[in-house]
Amino acid sequence: MAKIHELSAILADQIAAGEVIERPASVVKELVENSIDANSTEIDIRIEEAGLKLISVIDDGDGIDREDVPMAFERHATSKIIDRQDLFRIHSLGFRGEALPSIASIADVTLSTSTGGEGEEIHISGGKLVTEKPAISRKGTSVTVKDLFYNVPARLKYLKAPNTELARITDIVNRLALSYPQISFSLTHNGRELMRSAGRGDLLQVISGVYGISNAREMVKVEGQDDDFSVTGYVSLPELTRASRQYISILLNGRYVRNFQLTKAIVNGYGSKLMVGRFPVAVINIQMDALLVDVNVHPTKQEVRINKEPELMELITKTIYNRLASENLIPDATENL
Ligand code: ADP
Ligand code: MG
Repeated sequence: MAKIHELSAILADQIAAGEVIERPASVVKELVENSIDANSTEIDIRIEEAGLKLISVIDDGDGIDREDVPMAFERHATSKIIDRQDLFRIHSLGFRGEALPSIASIADVTLSTSTGGEGEEIHISGGKLVTEKPAISRKGTSVTVKDLFYNVPARLKYLKAPNTELARITDIVNRLALSYPQISFSLTHNGRELMRSAGRGDLLQVISGVYGISNAREMVKVEGQDDDFSVTGYVSLPELTRASRQYISILLNGRYVRNFQLTKAIVNGYGSKLMVGRFPVAVINIQMDALLVDVNVHPTKQEVRINKEPELMELITKTIYNRLASENLIPDATENL
């Protein structure tokens, strides 16, 4: 008898889910990114019990055509890319077609959507279709995820204390709000509002909401560009520092990424103005030709490979260095000698 066989679709989805959905915050990230890709102007996130009981994301975006709804839950099914050319020019946050089937294989999911007319509602639990029916709904999509990891006990065990998981959710929502100041975000936990952004397109206003007004007052605007990259954003004056790199957000073509080299380039912009072990608060937006960046490095898409990275690092460092030099707010100790 043959020993090699194909995995069932549900098992394959659960394996993929292991990579994409590490914790409740990953669900929030994937759902909100879908809302952003659907041109939403308002995204409301409701969480209960740090996301293990309920995660719900409601948007006012484009919605999904009724007949497409089951397809959205198929593995590797996406509306965002078609061919190889598109893969090298990603303009959306999603493109792998993995999030919805992954989430639906390890939780109880209800998606309700409308493109303007009559809507559709689908309920899938543990990868199995429960119901699908027409639904009355305003334009947009709402996804409700209940009982995350109910059928993956190992994952449940690996999760940290509820407060830690909630902090991760808040962190990712904050970064998404910082990435998209023109979208209004709200986050509610057990009925209590944890954050809200106005969606007026003012980055400094979002920074002020996330890090506090007094901190926002100690941040300055930076702008720089060369032939390949444009860099804009806000960085803290050297007086405002933190003990970790956590308060640095790097957004590459609208995607929050983690990148050690670019973080280093930001810190280097401070020259010798920072004490050892201290880091600035910064939100840096980098715009570049999508051809120059490979986002298909890791399932969570937070790691990227950048072409001409040394040139970009230099531009970032120079932009911040020059801006802080022109600020000249810190009197040089030698001045009074
Ligand atoms: P991907 O985002 O990589 O395409 P997903 O599994 O996250 O894959 O979503 C599958 C598809 O479902 C998307 O390509 C999109 O067409 C549709 N979709 C998911 N969420 C939304 C949403 N909030 N609004 C509109 N369409 C959505
Ligand atoms: Mg997606």
